[in-house]
Amino acid sequence: MTVTIGVLALQGDVREHVAALESVGARGVPVRRLGELDAVDGLILPGGESTTIDKLLRAFGLFEPLRERIARGLPVYGSCAGMILLAERVIGGREDQRTLGGIDMTVRRNAFGRQVDSFEADIHVAGFGPAPFRAVFIRAPWVEQVGPRVRVLARVAARAGESTGRIVAVQEGTLLATSFHPELGADNRMHAHFVQMASGNNTRRT
Ligand code: GLN
Repeated sequence: MTVTIGVLALQGDVREHVAALESVGARGVPVRRLGELDAVDGLILPGGESTTIDKLLRAFGLFEPLRERIARGLPVYGSCAGMILLAERVIGGREDQRTLGGIDMTVRRNAFGRQVDSFEADIHVAGFGPAPFRAVFIRAPWVEQVGPRVRVLARVAARAGESTGRIVAVQEGTLLATSFHPELGADNRMHAHFVQMASGNNTRRT
C-alpha cells in the first residue's frame, strides 16, 4: 500500500517536500486542517521560520492536537525550523516561542551564525552507507545536547578543523529531525528513510 505523508503547509518549502516524497514512491499531501492530519501515516514539518510556524499552528488549532499525536507515536520528520519544533528545549528562541517537543534534545537556533548564514556540506549519515549526503543549511540550528534515547545520525564541522562536529541529524523512536534541507537537493535518501519509518505507523484514524 502507498504510504501517505502529510507536509504541514502553513509556511515553508512544502512543494519541494511533496516532490521528494513522490520521488521515493510515497504520496505527499499538504496538511492545514485537523481532519487532514488524521488521514496521514506520517508528517513532515518543513523549514521556514519556527516562531511563525509556532504561531500559525496555534492559530489553526493544530498545536495541541499535533502534540497529542506525537505523544501517541505519529511519525514526524522536522527539517530546520521543523527540527526546532520537535525539540524539547531551545536556546536562542523568542521569549514566547513554544515547541511541540517530542525529541529529548536542546537545539540552538541560528547556531551557525551570521557569517555562514547558508552553506552546503558533504556529511555522513548513519545507515546511509559510504556515499556522502550533500546537505544544504539555511540559518540552521544545531543540536547542543541529546538525551539517552536519541540516536545521533550525522554531524558537521562548524568551523574548519573542528574534529567532532556539531550534531545535525537525530532520531528518537518515530521522530526524525535534521538541521539541513534534503528536499532542496537531489539525494532522496532522507525522505526514503522517513517513508520507511512511517510505513509501520498504525496511529492513522481514517
Ligand atoms: N532560523 C529559522 C528558525 O529559527 C530556521 C531556518 C530554516 O528553517 N531554514 O526557525
